[in-house]
Amino acid sequence: MHIITVVGARPQFIKAATVCRVLREQFPTVRHQLIHTGQHYDAAMSDVFFTELDIPVPDHHLGIGGGTHGQNTGRMLEHLEQVLVQNRPDRVLVYGDTDSTLAGALAAVKLNIPVAHVEAGLRSFNRRMPEEINRILTDHAADLLFTPTATASAHLAHEGIADEAVIQVGDVMYDAALFYRGRAQDMSRVISELDLAGQPFILATVHRAENVDDAGRLGRILEGLGRATIPVILPMHPRTRQRLSDSGLRAADNIRIISPVGYLDMVALEMAASRIATDSGGVQKEAYFHGVPCITLREETEWTELVESGANVLVGTDVQAIEWALNHPLPDAGPDRGDSMTPYGQGNAADLIVNHLVNQI
Ligand code: UDP
Repeated sequence: MHIITVVGARPQFIKAATVCRVLREQFPTVRHQLIHTGQHYDAAMSDVFFTELDIPVPDHHLGIGGGTHGQNTGRMLEHLEQVLVQNRPDRVLVYGDTDSTLAGALAAVKLNIPVAHVEAGLRSFNRRMPEEINRILTDHAADLLFTPTATASAHLAHEGIADEAVIQVGDVMYDAALFYRGRAQDMSRVISELDLAGQPFILATVHRAENVDDAGRLGRILEGLGRATIPVILPMHPRTRQRLSDSGLRAADNIRIISPVGYLDMVALEMAASRIATDSGGVQKEAYFHGVPCITLREETEWTELVESGANVLVGTDVQAIEWALNHPLPDAGPDRGDSMTPYGQGNAADLIVNHLVNQI
């Protein structure tokens, strides 16, 4: 039995770390190869995750990144096809919604290699998001769709995908949050390095194209964050840093911009933050997993359960709405705080995925 996993971007490293570990532990005889497309390539966006999260060294590194969506997806497709033809796996496994996800799914399905999609069925219903197009196309190329929530499964049913192909397993990011939380507490030094011990602060991340490629939206987000009455720690995605420098926008003094951090430092920051402001899909859920109120800097979210429960407030890029949400009390919510809602499964999504994969082949 032979599985090939295709990853390329930061959130995929975190998701794949969990599934790879369970596969290794439970089915050591399964042959597993990892392809890194190179979409995220530098030390802070890639290497640190492989080291910290014990992800095996990729068997193939395609070194494709830095181009446009079309350039990246096209080049990945060509190179992935070569690797798949040479190796002929029984199944290809892809994660999430990036160009690497779509290229992996498309390359495999055209060679009649079955595709499994982890984090299937998410929809923002905003077709201007490149991620939305990647998700829809990948879901319709896959024959095994692992969904994180009931909402995601319902979206797939609505799109006519056969029930037998859809398996609701919960969210592998929840597994990761539970597994690495203790390690983050023991190993991360970020709180003392940033002099934050005992200090209230807001953790913020901004990287979505719709927010950072538009100087008006980026400017309003920075202005809103600048109105927080406590410090804002902003680990800055390289794309955002580039756009900030291109636009000439300046962040207010209470916003502390730092380089992107590794996952363990990120978890430590999330757990210590008074609240989290983000446009990241993963960080919205991690806020909930760690019981921290979340303010989402978008007009819509794929993770609607959190908005419905009050754990997440959608503020878009309205300066007053951001200011209000940063400085007023919000309800506590999270699996650890007596919230009865656990829409992301039991923290065993990776076990369920691995068992399905192995039994299907
Ligand atoms: N993350 C990280 N360091 C950072 C910012 C984010 O480790 O400086 C992690 C975060 O904890 C989450 C994942 O990266 O697990 C989210 O990735 P990202 O926001 O890039 O993508 P999205 O989830 O929006 O697809």
